[in-house]
Amino acid sequence: MAQIIDGKAIALKIREELKEEVEELEKQGVTPGLAVVLVGEDPASKIYVRNKKKAAEKAGIQSFEHHLPEDTPEAQLLELIERLNRDDSVHGILVQLPLPKHIDTTRVIEAISPDKDVDGFHPYNVGRLATGSPLFEPCTPKGIMELLKRSNIEVAGRDAVVVGRSNIVGKPVALMLLSQNATVTVCHSKTRDIEQKIGGADIVVCAVGRAEFVKGEWIKEGSVVIDVGINRLEDGRLVGDVEFEEAAKRASHITPVPGGVGPMTIAMLLANTVLSAKRTIKG
Ligand code: NDP
Repeated sequence: MAQIIDGKAIALKIREELKEEVEELEKQGVTPGLAVVLVGEDPASKIYVRNKKKAAEKAGIQSFEHHLPEDTPEAQLLELIERLNRDDSVHGILVQLPLPKHIDTTRVIEAISPDKDVDGFHPYNVGRLATGSPLFEPCTPKGIMELLKRSNIEVAGRDAVVVGRSNIVGKPVALMLLSQNATVTVCHSKTRDIEQKIGGADIVVCAVGRAEFVKGEWIKEGSVVIDVGINRLEDGRLVGDVEFEEAAKRASHITPVPGGVGPMTIAMLLANTVLSAKRTIKG
């Protein structure tokens, strides 16, 4: 039976460590600040923003919430970002996605100063990650690597299969695994023989967004399974992209859903904000 990777407990520990780092920063006269920008009334986004704000405050990070109406013109949002870029009390800027359709998401992401891009979505930070000198790494993939590290899972030399190639999870986590010397295969909707590829993997990271897409019997005996997916079933239950019960019988380690990767995402957002605040001291 697999060891369950308790993302909730690990995230909590990281948040406590960050709180201590924030106290140290305070002594040097810097209070880390995170600006969270929400446009519109999307209920899921509202919950995410509230949780991020709460977590920041618990860690001693100052949070600045900017809630703009759904019909906010793009120019006005860009103006706000410019203001936040110049504001020394703001170390991290997060624009909650998705944005309303009339706003160009790429333009907005590119307007955020790369030095305050705590989501790690700006092409500058994507490029730094791709060239092996990361500054701000995207939060979910960073959280996955932290889970592996804190669970003492060896990455170097192992065969990793990433299912999903989105810019926020699949692609960056593949780059991170590669930079830690895994041999990485990235699968997507056009991949053939996915079952076989997963069956050969020592580490499987699944970020597809389809309930129990990966069957437990595909998993190789002793492999590590990181399930990023969050899917709500008709009966209200939350499940991942992997058939948990069956996979857990074969894997050496597995993340549950909920309580695996999810809690790490916010912890890494806070970590990036603290990192950004520290950089202002080091010059
Ligand atoms: P996207 O929808 O952006 O990407 C999904 C990826 O899965 C795409 O690359 C797609 O391939 C691939 N895919 C779809 N169908 C198949 C298939 N049949 N076989 C193989 N690959 C397939 O999703 P995200 O990356 O944003 O998110 C993935 C999941 O992770 C979601 O459930 C999301 O809710 C969850 N998530 C969880 C987070 C957390 O904090 N725990 C954070 C972010 C996301 P193609 O590119 O060819 O279309």
